[in-house]
Amino acid sequence: MKANLEPSTLCIHGGWQPGNGGPRVLPIYQSTTFKYDNTEEMAQLFDLKKSGYFYTRLQNPTNDAVATKLAALEGGVGCVLTSSGQAANFYAVFNICEAGGHIVASSEIYGGTYNLFAVTLKKLGIECTFVSPDAAEDEINAAFKPNTRLLFGETISNPGCNVLDIEKFARIAHSHGVPLIVDNTFATPVNCRPFEWGADIVTHSTTKYLDGHATQVGGAVIDSGKFDWDAHSDLFPGLTTPDDSYHGLTYTKSFGPMAYTTKLTAQLMRDLGSIPSPQNCFLLNLGMETLHLRMKQHCANATKIATFLKNDPRVAWVHYPSIPGDEQYDKAQKYLPDGSCGVMAFGLKGDRDTAVKFMDSLKLIAIATHVADVRSCVLHPASHTHRQLSDEQLRSAGIAPDLIRLSVGIEDIKDLLDDIKQALDRI
Ligand code: PLP
Repeated sequence: MKANLEPSTLCIHGGWQPGNGGPRVLPIYQSTTFKYDNTEEMAQLFDLKKSGYFYTRLQNPTNDAVATKLAALEGGVGCVLTSSGQAANFYAVFNICEAGGHIVASSEIYGGTYNLFAVTLKKLGIECTFVSPDAAEDEINAAFKPNTRLLFGETISNPGCNVLDIEKFARIAHSHGVPLIVDNTFATPVNCRPFEWGADIVTHSTTKYLDGHATQVGGAVIDSGKFDWDAHSDLFPGLTTPDDSYHGLTYTKSFGPMAYTTKLTAQLMRDLGSIPSPQNCFLLNLGMETLHLRMKQHCANATKIATFLKNDPRVAWVHYPSIPGDEQYDKAQKYLPDGSCGVMAFGLKGDRDTAVKFMDSLKLIAIATHVADVRSCVLHPASHTHRQLSDEQLRSAGIAPDLIRLSVGIEDIKDLLDDIKQALDRI
């Protein structure tokens, strides 16, 4: 097969190319272990002197094929799949930042990631400073400290739909000698490849569009292989100085551009686990085979619905980056010219009860704590994920009390619009 396949071809053929007589579809290697004929061969695998399979917590052929596909789609050198998006963001950070370290993160990120950074990492001795992604460069620069190890943001934030100025964030991170990590869950590599704009590491909740059918929870960490860890050796000793648990091996010396990926597998997966099952990787792979088609339909449907909502007098506001007039529109045109995603946020004129009445009146679009699968769904943070907060507390957390998060699926647009119209008629 030729090199440099187009993304839509990679979605189908990336990672698994069977030989003559081999299974056309990626097989599920549902095995924890792999057999060897002699002791020496297995010993070399343990010493990282030879590559091969010995235990599925570290590597498995089904998982590796899917990781290879995702690395190719993002344009990275290596990918590690994890058991959830939460695990992916934790590993992406913890691979280069330990107790005593500090990170800077966009304040417009998924609530679970915010909590991980603000509360749980703190318990591990890692401090986080949050910055508004749209703040001036000076203000973001001021958040950096001598012990800062990385900058973090989301390509399209959940749930606010803020579009990250990746070039600006990469410039800031690199001026402090640290990498930029971008969570590319909502855009997917079909609509944005953050490495092309200067990001160094990309993460995913594969639970979302990559799978797209709501069948598995998973995550991924992909490395561009471009960040020069040795040039900032004092900040990243875990990669640039000998690892006692591998007989004094130094990752950057032994693995070059694969240093970050190899350390993540060899240390974090070895010691902390959190791998996806081969069965789940098979499901993820099936989903990824149609990613390029699904994203087009999600975006087309969402653009029509956002435009309809924006023009309806009962709707107070709509945030969807791909419609003209949205405050994120210019950034979306730059970073997401082919479309953003199917998720939008909007508010109805009225109060919390108006939002509840609207949502309870929907018949096809379901109330679900999920986004980014083929079925449309809605969530009202004030009634669900953040129900314990007062309106004032919600506002101070950056969530409008009337915010409805709508994840537009790939059903026929007529049926979706009919459902929204009849629910609006009942408020
Ligand atoms: N990153 C983003 C942008 C998300 O939206 C989510 C979950 O919604 C996560 C990470 C966490 O992923 P998971 O639910 O797979 O752990």
